Amino acid sequence: FEGPAFPSIRELILYQFNSGLAVTGRSGAILHKPIPRERWELNNDDVILLDKIGRGNFGDVYKAQLKSTGQDVAVKTCRVTLPEEHKKKFLQEGRILKQYDHPNIVKLIGICVQKQPIMIVMELVPGGSLLTFLRKNAAILTEGQLMNMCQDAAAGMRYLESKNCIHRDLAARNCLVGYANIVKISDYGMSREEEEYIVSDGMKQIPIKWTAPEALNFGKYTSLCDVWSYGILCWEIFSRGGTPYSGLSNSKAREKIDTGYRMPAPENTPDEMYRLVLRCWEYQPENRPNFEQIFTVVDTLCQAYKVSFL
Ligand code: ADP
Repeated sequence: FEGPAFPSIRELILYQFNSGLAVTGRSGAILHKPIPRERWELNNDDVILLDKIGRGNFGDVYKAQLKSTGQDVAVKTCRVTLPEEHKKKFLQEGRILKQYDHPNIVKLIGICVQKQPIMIVMELVPGGSLLTFLRKNAAILTEGQLMNMCQDAAAGMRYLESKNCIHRDLAARNCLVGYANIVKISDYGMSREEEEYIVSDGMKQIPIKWTAPEALNFGKYTSLCDVWSYGILCWEIFSRGGTPYSGLSNSKAREKIDTGYRMPAPENTPDEMYRLVLRCWEYQPENRPNFEQIFTVVDTLCQAYKVSFL
């Protein structure tokens, strides 16, 4: 900078702004209009990392605390050594999440990008991953509770569908469990905001057993692919954390699906629920219900379930 010196940045900026003088003669740049920092842009020093609570694709996940308010949060970190391209992919999740606000969608609090490691700060969902939760609590979870989990997931997915967001990786391992067993859809690393998304390059990391046939065969993704995955998710919920197509390899499972095979209902799945799951597994996407319709069915079932237990 040229011109007078100031004891603080604030005074320097005020001087430059009020005087209308160029910051340097050569650049001719003047301070014209402030661009406020966005609400979710945090400094790395704004969060205190506490315990490690998980491991993600890009790096570790921590329980942490916001310095300003003391609020408990979850922080996903991105390994410093990853190539730039992966770091961009990592931030994709933050970009998607920042626009959403729904009780069944994990909330974004902020992103820290001014130094390494870059971090995504999210609401802390204390029960951890739904898959682990189902397995740990298999013996004590009631059918009513499992129905409510399916309802929560349907509510979250209905919201995403209304926003034209295709999740592409809906599965119990990517849902989180909060207070009172509320289920929140998480892990937007593969999500896209488009009505239809065509994958042309490598299908390397595709969760085969969760993915609809048209996505596997033609790389064609729509919300109706998420509907297929939702069927698998409900199966995981009612099997209390079972492994789909257990004993079958990915390619064998795929083959069997193509010949019309569908997994049987886990023990004690309500009939109507299994009928809905089978509709989610219709081979042709246009024959599947959308999430608006799914939510209505599951909501009605949950109400009926509550009444029958009164
Ligand atoms: P990645 O998308 O990189 O695979 P995940 O989103 O699956 O990472 O996170 C890895 C693990 O960290 C999860 O299985 C879960 O146990 C934990 N975790 C992630 N986000 C949260 C959160 N918001 N609250 C609590 N635990 C979380």
